[in-house]
Amino acid sequence: MAFCSRCGAALPDGSVYCWRCGLKIVMDKPGVRHEEFEISGGQLLDKVKELIHEGNVRRIVIKQKGKPLLEIPLTIALVGAVVAPVLAAVGAVAALITDCTITVERLEGS
Ligand SMILES: [Zn+2]
Repeated sequence: MAFCSRCGAALPDGSVYCWRCGLKIVMDKPGVRHEEFEISGGQLLDKVKELIHEGNVRRIVIKQKGKPLLEIPLTIALVGAVVAPVLAAVGAVAALITDCTITVERLEGS
């Protein structure tokens, strides 16, 4: 059993969308969950900072019209000096776009 990260609803195994809030959920392997959401360029940097801070995110992919613009692997703990160039790259992307899709690969239960 998994839980929606947005609204907290319990999700039956194999759910693709949260039945309550409609968040897209793709479970491709045990322990890893994919989430995808639309966001404006102006909110992008804050959202990425928030996701990095959450600590259980393994990968962030920023896409526009289905085309990946930036992929951020978080397999190593990103701290201090390592985070700065990543956020600079995100900021550069955010300045160029008005809206985009973020795909988040998140570890379950951590
Ligand atoms: Zn939900």
